[in-house]
Amino acid sequence: MATLKYSRQRESIKTNLMQRKDHPTADMVYSDIRIEYPNISLGTVYRNLALLTELGEIQKISSIDGPDRYDGQAKPHNHFVCKKCGKIVDVMNTPMDSLMKSMSSDFEGLVEECNITFYGVCKECAQKEGLI
Ligand SMILES: [Zn+2]
Ligand SMILES: [Zn+2]
Repeated sequence: MATLKYSRQRESIKTNLMQRKDHPTADMVYSDIRIEYPNISLGTVYRNLALLTELGEIQKISSIDGPDRYDGQAKPHNHFVCKKCGKIVDVMNTPMDSLMKSMSSDFEGLVEECNITFYGVCKECAQKEGLI
């Protein structure tokens, strides 16, 4: 059944994402999944990534000047983007509760989520350029 195959592929896309920390693009996931499913199309990978995002099982990170990136870590967390190499790193220790509380205090609606992206230069790039 086509439906079953579809879902197996989705499961393997999800597993691939959860195992990596590099916040890949759909293309990067595609080249990995193709090893297991040589006949899968890039369109199928995109569709499954969109569906998983909709289900809240993965996160999509929209970037300003590049393709969307995907994140297997579904738990809310923040990101650091290196402006030199474009690497995206997870940032877990942001005081989100207090941040959302202070934002909500003068906002007349319901704040449900918050995503922060920090920008700068990663350790590897900073070392390469003699910045640290
Ligand atoms: Zn970097
Ligand atoms: Zn992440």
